[in-house]
Amino acid sequence: MNADHLAIIGDQFWARVDKGDDTDPDCCWLWLRPNGEPTKKYGSFRGLVATRVALELTTGQKVPDHLVVCHRCDNPPCVRPSHLFIGTNRDNAMDAIQKGRIVYPTRPKRPSDWHEHPPRQLTSVEALTAFRMWQAGQASNAIAQVMRTTRDVVWEAIQLMRIKSP
Ligand SMILES: [Zn+2]
Repeated sequence: MNADHLAIIGDQFWARVDKGDDTDPDCCWLWLRPNGEPTKKYGSFRGLVATRVALELTTGQKVPDHLVVCHRCDNPPCVRPSHLFIGTNRDNAMDAIQKGRIVYPTRPKRPSDWHEHPPRQLTSVEALTAFRMWQAGQASNAIAQVMRTTRDVVWEAIQLMRIKSP
């Protein structure tokens, strides 16, 4: 990607951000939906997670694929670079659990016909990772493959996270 191309993408990207009072360092910069309404979830831009694009545009460096962009401000739609940090999925999950955002039951209920060949259940960290992958646009089938379990298990985890997530 050359500098011109990057500048064009940058303009398009930041046009989707409500910077509010950007003289206040605590003020979050909120990602807007295409219709200009604020979103409550992670934003996405050209199929990428908006927080990742925000950091990459600001630093000029790619965030490695195996790492995730986390929020210091705990506000999913925020893309203000100074509110973001790069961590592992595990950091992100631990951060969320510590902040009390995620309460995942250790034993999700499951249909009785799973008794003989129960699918592998997800740990809290895996469930949150699955949720983040789903938020980032991955299909539940694909996530299930990565997590070596069934789509039903992944879907149940995602639904639980949607309820617990702000
Ligand atoms: Zn913020």
